Amino acid sequence: MKTKYLYINTIGCQMNVYDSDQISKSLLPLNYKATENLKKADLIIVNTCAIREKAEQKVFSFLGRLSGLKRKKPGLIIGVGGCVAQQEGKKILERVPYLDIVFGTHAIHRLPGIIERIELKKTRIVDIGMTDRIVEIESVSNLPENGKISAFVTIMQGCDNFCTYCVVPYVRGRETSRSPEKIVKEVEGLVNSGIREVTLLGQNVNSYGKKEGLCSFPELLALINEIDGILRIRFTTSHPKDLSDDLIMAFKDNEKLCRHIHLPVQSGSDRVLKRMKRKYTRALYLEKIDKLRNICPDISITSDFITGFPGETKADFKETLDLIKTVEYEGLFAFKYSDRPNAKATLFAQKISDQEKKERLKKLLDLQEIITRKKNQALVGSTQEILVEGFSKKMSSALPRAGKPKTNESLPDNIQWTGRTSTNKIVNFNLESSSVSCGEFFTGSIVNVKIEKAFSHSLWGKYLKLEPATLSLKGGESYAA
Ligand code: SF4
Repeated sequence: MKTKYLYINTIGCQMNVYDSDQISKSLLPLNYKATENLKKADLIIVNTCAIREKAEQKVFSFLGRLSGLKRKKPGLIIGVGGCVAQQEGKKILERVPYLDIVFGTHAIHRLPGIIERIELKKTRIVDIGMTDRIVEIESVSNLPENGKISAFVTIMQGCDNFCTYCVVPYVRGRETSRSPEKIVKEVEGLVNSGIREVTLLGQNVNSYGKKEGLCSFPELLALINEIDGILRIRFTTSHPKDLSDDLIMAFKDNEKLCRHIHLPVQSGSDRVLKRMKRKYTRALYLEKIDKLRNICPDISITSDFITGFPGETKADFKETLDLIKTVEYEGLFAFKYSDRPNAKATLFAQKISDQEKKERLKKLLDLQEIITRKKNQALVGSTQEILVEGFSKKMSSALPRAGKPKTNESLPDNIQWTGRTSTNKIVNFNLESSSVSCGEFFTGSIVNVKIEKAFSHSLWGKYLKLEPATLSLKGGESYAA
């Protein structure tokens, strides 16, 4: 069968990155091979995000760029998947006349069939049917991961919370969890293909399994912690209202669970939290932060914030800044509020001007920048355990190819490597030796690095040659809480 090329443009969160991966793997039996060259593609998929207005605009601007390509190559198939597809359905086909497929968040497993139908008989297809369970794509395991050492694993999808600003329950459906057996099997398959770190994904992992009567999320973490070959486990996202004492204890009980939690708070004002329907107060949130720090003193905490939610006063915003100073996050993601289709807050009065939202966003990010720099600076002089991901970006561009070097490959002097701490900080470092030939050995291993410099988004250090850490692929070493 002739090889065909697939180009995927992923816009949005880690869940979309995982879905794109699933799409690639599901199309392998149809002989579609991934390419990063748009012009070479026989099939272009845009995997979309509808969470923020800006992401949605990006989708249509990218689709606009494809009209010329389609004219030159009439056999080219173009599809839109993900949240925007689910939300807009056939309206996208009307807006983009050269588009062939619109497939929703629950239709990924049906995509190969859709493509086959289009290849056989030129037609345009919309599939945004929702299912109340997750249909497994069985071909995901045991495929080589091309030098990657980290992978996402979706453990559940959808959400039942209906925060008033959020579109997720409408575009991803209600909360549904995968069985622990399927998740463990997928992680084992990933280990066989070279993966050493997994990030478990769900809109609210704390609710994992509750509806279906499966095991709890802390129990699932314990199962994955037992898998040989996995060195690190991460997860996202955890809703503060559902952060249980058991999950907090999991940071103590599971040595592979990384010392990092993303705990989106959105606002520091109880008045705003209530209008957002977040179902926790500032006091309850701070209580949970205290518990986390008691169990795991050096845990890194990150969060999400929205500025300019309808009705957010200057006093409310001041409370948000005050919360940031109190918690001292390692980092945060912040966005200006935007109305989203179906979300309840779209109907709220007292909308904040764009200028005001922008100014509040800047103040918030400036404050966080100072805190992050201070926290990074405090690590200078310390020794950190780094899971090595490969060459640093700078090195990758200087070398013939990026990623994982071959065993015994002769590398330039002062090669720069990159990896992360358990607390999710990026660390670039070098070995200070000439002609290193330990590529395979190094990538995917945990090593000790002495931190010498701190920046806003990364750290710089030196590999401690005489005091290697684990340098092992067995797992279970001392890098967790
Ligand atoms: S918890 Fe709230 S913000 Fe998060 S996905 Fe669900 S509805 Fe959206």
